[in-house]
Amino acid sequence: MSTPREVTLIPGDGIGPAITDATVRVLEAAGASFTWDRQIAGAAAVKALGDPLPEATLDSVRRTKLALKGPLETPVGKGFRSINVALRKEFDLYANLRPAKTIIPGGRFDGVDVVLVRENTEGLYVGIENYVKVGDDPHAVAQSVAVVSRNGAERIIRYAFEYALAHGRRKVTIVHKANILKYSQGLFLETGRKVAAEYAGRVESDDKIVDAAAMELVMRPERFDVIVTTNLFGDILSDLTSGLVGGLGLTPGANIGYDCGIFEAVHGTAPDIAGKGVANPTAVMLAGCQLLDHVGEKPRADRIRAAIEATLRERKVVTRDVGGTAGTDEYTDAVIARLKG
Ligand code: NAD
Repeated sequence: MSTPREVTLIPGDGIGPAITDATVRVLEAAGASFTWDRQIAGAAAVKALGDPLPEATLDSVRRTKLALKGPLETPVGKGFRSINVALRKEFDLYANLRPAKTIIPGGRFDGVDVVLVRENTEGLYVGIENYVKVGDDPHAVAQSVAVVSRNGAERIIRYAFEYALAHGRRKVTIVHKANILKYSQGLFLETGRKVAAEYAGRVESDDKIVDAAAMELVMRPERFDVIVTTNLFGDILSDLTSGLVGGLGLTPGANIGYDCGIFEAVHGTAPDIAGKGVANPTAVMLAGCQLLDHVGEKPRADRIRAAIEATLRERKVVTRDVGGTAGTDEYTDAVIARLKG
């Protein structure tokens, strides 16, 4: 057995503790060699320490460089930072990896298997915004600046091609709007074509304008494999790809930097079902699989993914959001039984 890796575990708020517990049980049943440093953030941390992102939690991630995170309630109110933005900035988590794959047949589409790689630190999310006063209207005009740097574009596009190579993926599609935003999106596309040329013969590539890509994703999603795009387009298109495969309960998201990775579900704290024992833990379980992929344990991750997929496909013991009646624990037991069977 390999030396255990220490991972920061942030259970989160709402349904977070239940679905992260379920994930830890599945990872342990699969023999994953992790030790967990439990830390708090979000509403739980505000309640305990008056700070949504305590220094002790940041210190833990600085040390372990790995975190499995439940969803966090971002407290509304002045003075609170957005926790997710703060984590991305602190650890320079420049790649947001959101795979969307059809698991349960008979949904909107069969055969979808798209990995969306979203740039996580630049674009319109840099927060450079201002109003321009005209006459006596101080908010007559609003401006938001999109920042694309050659280095920022290159590292995310290279990440997408390296991901494709490492995971046996066929093609990378660069999604942009360079026909209109000739400078920022133009630089992203120009950089993308240069990087793509380096991978010629190993990974196919093409590029598409974002509006055409959105239409094609809805009409023929099976044509896409890996998509790489800038921050805002990635934010929107990754919710679209989640919708293609059955919604938020099933889609994980990894935030990856040079030496750090934070793994979570795409969905939030689901306050409407918190404490009822009915949440679907699949998205966080699949984030746990991304964590295993990240530490070089893809075969173990694939075994868990196969157990999840078989349990969901059989549809005997599944949670309410995907048409079943099972609770979180019962579903988790069924996945573990598959793993061991
Ligand atoms: P949500 O994703 O929590 O819920 C949307 C709907 O999906 C709800 O009906 C919920 O019951 C359902 N749902 C979500 N996950 C589910 C699961 N695993 N199983 C079954 N049903 C599930 O979105 P929201 O209500 O807009 O946000 C609630 C809170 O979560 C807010 O405070 C928001 O800031 C936070 N949030 C956090 C993150 C994060 O930490 N990464 C992401 C999104 C939202």
